[in-house]
Amino acid sequence: MAEKRDYYEVLGVAKNANADEIKKAYRKAAIQFHPDKNPGDKEAEEKFKEAAEAYDVLSNPDKRARYDQFGHAGMSGAAGGGAGGFGGFGGGGFSMEDIFSQFGDIFGGHFGGGFRSSNGGGGRRVNRGSDIRVRVRLTLAEIANGVTKKLKINKTVACDKCGGSGARDANSYSTCSTCNGTGYVTRVENTFFGRMQTQGVCPTCGGTGKVITASCDKCKGEGTLRGQEVVEIKIPAGVGEGMVLTVTGKGNAARQGGVNGDLQVVIEEERNPELVRDGNDLIHNLNITVTTALLGGTVEVPTVDGRAKIKIAPGTHAGKVLRLGGKGLPDVNGYGRGDELVVVDITVPSKLSAEERKLVEQLAAQPSFQKAESVKNQNIFERMKSFFR
Ligand SMILES: [Zn+2]
Ligand SMILES: [Zn+2]
Repeated sequence: MAEKRDYYEVLGVAKNANADEIKKAYRKAAIQFHPDKNPGDKEAEEKFKEAAEAYDVLSNPDKRARYDQFGHAGMSGAAGGGAGGFGGFGGGGFSMEDIFSQFGDIFGGHFGGGFRSSNGGGGRRVNRGSDIRVRVRLTLAEIANGVTKKLKINKTVACDKCGGSGARDANSYSTCSTCNGTGYVTRVENTFFGRMQTQGVCPTCGGTGKVITASCDKCKGEGTLRGQEVVEIKIPAGVGEGMVLTVTGKGNAARQGGVNGDLQVVIEEERNPELVRDGNDLIHNLNITVTTALLGGTVEVPTVDGRAKIKIAPGTHAGKVLRLGGKGLPDVNGYGRGDELVVVDITVPSKLSAEERKLVEQLAAQPSFQKAESVKNQNIFERMKSFFR
């Protein structure tokens, strides 16, 4: 698949463009590349779709924020791709019908519904099942490595008796009298480009050219039944709280053999008691004893791949930050991996025995213990604070 262009670049707007500017830019592009104006021009059609895709994202504050943060990968979660990956826009993008049904209003009613796809199929307006939204809670380890989840989804599924058609059998159809079986009706409309003869989807049969004369008794003609489906989804490494991954076609089945809705998987992060996430970095608060701080030593710290041993240098101060390079989370867009930052804290025994007290008193009398050293504060605490607000 070709590299996707930046959505702001596609619409020719600035990164800080407001909703009105984005709408205007899209309208301009949509008119320029409109298929009625560029019949049979594949490149114009691609541009038309590209603009619609960009508009879909940039006109939605949620999607736009996600796109600004994660780029294209944040839209489909398809970083790395692979089996059972996500469709979203990545998997073939919008169909022309999607564009007209979603953004028809942008044309001020001039094009809405009147367009009939030129690339075969014949502009059939099909029923579409609704989307389903589910939440998936992931541990830090699952986020670090990526994970495949099997989700049992309660949804409408195609009726097994009629195969989703809603008809009793193959003879339960007659030719639609409105369109005489063609599936579309011709009408004359006034558009931006003058009077145009357009072919619209037949309102009676929805473009199938047929009407059902006897309904399936199991689904009462709906074509759907309540059911369940186990959906396997591959979640890429590095996803974050609130990201939405779209699995195309795994939502509710549509009436009478239409197009399935999508399954939207919302990511939730399980809080890890030892590691706090900061973007792709992880922060661990490490407690060491006074003696380890003084003499140095080896201690264990948690990482996303299990425990790791790290060395503490003699004379380590509280607040020192030890950076474990590459021990953070992988970037969801594939741009490397974050670090783990170990912030040292020193614990002091709350109680001393008489003998211990004597030893510490001796120590306190030594020259190195006469004056507190001043240490530069590290701004890691500023970063950490933001997590606990
Ligand atoms: Zn049925
Ligand atoms: Zn018809």
